[in-house]
Amino acid sequence: MTDQNQTNNTSPHKIPVGISSCLLGENVRYNGGHTQSKMCLGILAQHFEYQPFCPEVAAGFGIPRPTMRLTGDPHNPVLQFSDDDKQDLTQQLKDGFHEQLDKYDAVDGYILMKNSPSCGMERIKVYQENGYPHEERTRGLFADALIAAWPMLPIEEEGRLHDPRLRENFVMRVFSHYHFRHEVQEQPTYHNLLQYHSKHKYLLMAHSQKTYKELGRFLAESRQAPLEELMESYFTRFTEAIRKPASRKGHCNVLQHILGHLKRSVSGEARQSILAVIEQYRRGEVNLTTPMTLLAHYVEQTGDEFVQSQRYLLPYPAELGLRNQL
Ligand code: SF4
Repeated sequence: MTDQNQTNNTSPHKIPVGISSCLLGENVRYNGGHTQSKMCLGILAQHFEYQPFCPEVAAGFGIPRPTMRLTGDPHNPVLQFSDDDKQDLTQQLKDGFHEQLDKYDAVDGYILMKNSPSCGMERIKVYQENGYPHEERTRGLFADALIAAWPMLPIEEEGRLHDPRLRENFVMRVFSHYHFRHEVQEQPTYHNLLQYHSKHKYLLMAHSQKTYKELGRFLAESRQAPLEELMESYFTRFTEAIRKPASRKGHCNVLQHILGHLKRSVSGEARQSILAVIEQYRRGEVNLTTPMTLLAHYVEQTGDEFVQSQRYLLPYPAELGLRNQL
């Protein structure tokens, strides 16, 4: 891969990412403390420019403040202080984050704190009048509004980022979002959309062979459609396809495609060795970096322009080491 491609495949700047303030060590929790995340402040902070926000502080609940919880209907919960079931605090919280939501057109991801009636992304308890929680869980009110306002934004809970597959998937989605924003949304042309699709073909293929084929057809058939609509439909389907981590089977499929492209330049013996390593990866005996490193060597030496342009080869900076754990 050329230096030019490496720059294009990663990013020269830090990427703007929203985050629950308490995860950065800010003393904004109900008890005046924080829940600083080593994960977020470690290697991720070298690539992400965090934009911290605490919806409860923004809504004026103060520090310290009584604990809060959700009550009532899990589909339309009410925010209350845990020790006062008379006051409805829902609108106060919503008024506190309403304007902030408009500012997220220039971020490429969001990391939320778990178990919070405001920030929790899933499994948040909703209490009944009898004091017991419903079996059905919900989202925190801020998290729910954030997801509704920005459905294509990569959003993840900090707790889930401790799972290597979910972490890798989140970072990959953040970089894909960043590239879409800069390469397509900021310079919207049909050509730029096609270029984006072309560079992401193998990445899409690793996640969903079906969407990979459908999106290629969709772009070819929709050439006359209004560009804004086309971009939105495309990126909605793209983000849906990559939301779940790719399987080993999906990665093996792409690795074999890359090898297929190198037909003329890889001797029969070398091809057998590479295939054997791909099989080792399929069986879980080595991580994804092993076959990728082997293939990258040949791609760099002899790969054609199409293969060299694929973001799949370097979806985020290599020093993040995320593929060592896949
Ligand atoms: S979880 Fe959200 S609301 Fe609670 S302290 Fe952290 S940032 Fe504030």
